[in-house]
Amino acid sequence: MGKTNLSMEQLVSYAKRRGFVFQSSEIYGGIAGFYDFGPYGAELADNIKSSWWRHFVYNNFNVVGLNSSIIQNSKLWQASGHVDTFVDPMVDCRSCKHRFRADHVAEIDTNNLTKLNEALADKSCPNCGEKNSLTEARNFQMMFKTFVGPVEDDAATTYLRPETAGGIFAQYDNVRETTRKKLPFGIAQIGKAFRNEITPGDFIFRVREFTQMELEIFTKPEEADKWFEFWKDYCLEWVKGLGISQDNLRWHEHSEEERAHYAAASTDIQYKFPFGFKELYGVANRTDHDLKSHMKVSGKDLNYFDEETGKNIVPYVIEPSVGVERLFMAVMLDAYHEEEVDGEKRIVMKFHPDLAPVKVAVLPLSKKTELSDVAKDVFKSIAGEYNVEYDETQSIGKRYRRQDEIGTPYCVTVDFESLEDQAVTVRDRDSMKQERVKMGELKSYLEGKLK
Ligand code: ATP
Repeated sequence: MGKTNLSMEQLVSYAKRRGFVFQSSEIYGGIAGFYDFGPYGAELADNIKSSWWRHFVYNNFNVVGLNSSIIQNSKLWQASGHVDTFVDPMVDCRSCKHRFRADHVAEIDTNNLTKLNEALADKSCPNCGEKNSLTEARNFQMMFKTFVGPVEDDAATTYLRPETAGGIFAQYDNVRETTRKKLPFGIAQIGKAFRNEITPGDFIFRVREFTQMELEIFTKPEEADKWFEFWKDYCLEWVKGLGISQDNLRWHEHSEEERAHYAAASTDIQYKFPFGFKELYGVANRTDHDLKSHMKVSGKDLNYFDEETGKNIVPYVIEPSVGVERLFMAVMLDAYHEEEVDGEKRIVMKFHPDLAPVKVAVLPLSKKTELSDVAKDVFKSIAGEYNVEYDETQSIGKRYRRQDEIGTPYCVTVDFESLEDQAVTVRDRDSMKQERVKMGELKSYLEGKLK
């Protein structure tokens, strides 16, 4: 026992049973590609976002934040190339009517329709197994279309953003001017993105609504390679710092065939999911492609005046981009442990304290009012700064187990002795060691531990 690898079925059922992830609109039969975070999942996702923001924005004097709108002028998505090229190739089965990502069925990593159709020639339907039943591959637009205002015509058409980066490029010059930043500098954004994925699946790995954490670093062209290497390492260090084991992480460099035509370099941090090593975090050197495209379509001058050389330049962009849901899954999978304690199985989520949904649980030994009154005072004395849970139901053993299963680093027990000595017992999740701490010192004791 110890570190136990969960299958996908086990992860999905664990996440539901413990209040981390529910299917969206479950009472109506759900909706494919959409999930809700339950009480503990919402905390975990928020803690991931806040860790990212602290490490990427607060830790770097040359990175600032932005919060742009989800719906933008549709010209932005024309300039970014999404209207014309944000497509995935798909095939349909004429027999069972299932729809698939063509590159997944063909088992080749390309969006080239000719190559895909060649590779698809001898494939049967992955769902019903029927031979010669697949249509030719054709492109499918992945952006969700909508209309702004009361008229549903072409002029009012726009899209839910498929990534947060577009809003960053569109505000690049306003941010640069108002913050007086010089190259290199970065703009970070956390927010929802929407993609009408042909085949959402693997739980929250591929969903149609997700949260991205994106950073665009603007740099002088000649320094782009250097900053690409720097941010690659920075991203990996942050992921490891979340407590994800190095053994489950690896780099995947994109070949020229795989990467976008404008990208000078592109690499992924892959995580070993139960269905294999797959992209967790993408890092790319996007050259001057984005700003040049926006200059062309908007007609606005987005040149940067380089005081050292007295010349105008269009900055290059380094983009590390990651989805909260994929990280969430990796964190859950890595945290799950089964141990044997006194002949019994103990399930424990060994979350980094920074990520743990509940930091401290306050547990009166019994429901008797004299104990619960003191325990509620203890709760009040530490609550407010982070998530503290109060629980007085069931036996103390069961309550410890419940907290272990949601990964609470510390349990504080109020017992009858507490009424005499004004002290409580603090139990450590991982070592299960218990320590007696004076109530008056509890707040600073826990703050020290949770740092
Ligand atoms: P994939 O090849 O898996 O479709 P992608 O290369 O299209 O991913 P990017 O456009 O580089 O992904 O998006 C950046 C990050 O956003 C990804 O590394 C991933 O963490 C996350 N992401 C992208 N699409 C989804 C999705 N449908 N569901 C959940 N997260 C996603």
